[in-house]
Amino acid sequence: MAFTLPELGYAYNALEPHIDARTMEIHHTKHHAAYTTNLNNAIAGTDLEGKSILDILTHLDMNNMPVRNNGGGYFNHNLFWEILHPENKGRLSGALADAINEAFGSKEQFMEKFSAAAMSRFGSGWAWLCVHPGGKVDICSTPNQDVPVMPGVGCGGTPIMGLDVWEHAYYLNYQNRRADYVNAFWNVLNWNVVEKKYEAALK
Ligand code: MN
Repeated sequence: MAFTLPELGYAYNALEPHIDARTMEIHHTKHHAAYTTNLNNAIAGTDLEGKSILDILTHLDMNNMPVRNNGGGYFNHNLFWEILHPENKGRLSGALADAINEAFGSKEQFMEKFSAAAMSRFGSGWAWLCVHPGGKVDICSTPNQDVPVMPGVGCGGTPIMGLDVWEHAYYLNYQNRRADYVNAFWNVLNWNVVEKKYEAALK
C-alpha cells in the first residue's frame, strides 16, 4: 500500500500569527505532498514496497538518495504536524520533564539548547529531541531531510520532537529571520504529544 499525505488535524490558519496560513498550506499541499509522491515512486516495484516508513528509514542504504530524501521528508513532516497545536497544548510534565531536567538542568535550558541547534543548522535541515533506550534524551540536528533513525545520522535515537528549519517552513512570513520563527515555534508546540511519544519510545 502506498504512503498517503496525512491530514493536519487543524486548519492552515490555526497556528497564526506564529506560523502563517499560506506557509502551512504550501508546506503541506506542495512540499509534503511531493515527498509523499516521490517516496511512493522511489519504492514502487522494489523490496521496500509494503514496509513501514520506520522500517525503511532504520535499515536504509544511505546511498539511495531518492528514498533518503523523500522518505525522510515524508516521515519528518508527519512528525512535525503532529507536535504542533494552536493552543500550545499541555505543559512539560511527568517522565519527560524528569528526563529533560536530568539532561539539560531545566526546561528553559532545554529550550535554549534546542533553539541553538535549530539556529546553527547551516542551510536546510532539522533540530531534534531524541530518546535513547533507558529514557535518556538528547538534542541533535540533521541536514536536509535526514532522520536520526537513519544509519549513522544525528543522535541515533528515536525522534519525539522536530523543528523544520528549511526556508520553506518560514520564509514567506519571516524572510531571513529564522530566530523569530524558532521563537514562535514554542508558542504552538504540543507538549502533550511530545510526552506521549516519549512514553511510547520507552516501551
Ligand atoms: Mn518542510
